Amino acid sequence: MVKIGIMICDRNRKCTGNKCFKSIIERDGVFSKYPPEEPIEVVGWIACGGCPGERLEFAPADMKKYGAEVIYLASCYLAGYPICPYIEDHKTYIENVVGLPVIVGSHPMPQNYIDAHEKAGDWERDGAAEWLINVTGDPETAKKYDSTDPDFLKK
Ligand code: SF4
Repeated sequence: MVKIGIMICDRNRKCTGNKCFKSIIERDGVFSKYPPEEPIEVVGWIACGGCPGERLEFAPADMKKYGAEVIYLASCYLAGYPICPYIEDHKTYIENVVGLPVIVGSHPMPQNYIDAHEKAGDWERDGAAEWLINVTGDPETAKKYDSTDPDFLKK
């Protein structure tokens, strides 16, 4: 059993979390490292509160109280245009002050987002490669999480 907390970008504060929870259940993206038989308990799910991270000092510490062993900064930190400019700050604060490890990313980056960012050029411009490594590189899951794909959720 692993207990986790997830923070999402406040620009997506009304997100239902479908892709994150799907990736937890199906062990995709950053969750592929957990074997299917190991339960993953999400002890908290919260938007960061808006730039530069209004809930940063409260939320991860609260999740830790409820047993979180690791905090995930969801893939929306990277999916929005531009990527979150505070990723390093959030990661450093949570690791050094709250005392929990941080993983950047959650579900696989959908192909339609990859295509959009390639056209926009911001991932390269903003040095996103070091964060994207956890959620890109597998064309199959990129297609699987692309909700604009005609076969989305059909398999
Ligand atoms: S860009 Fe970063 S700091 Fe701003 S709302 Fe999104 S996650 Fe929070």
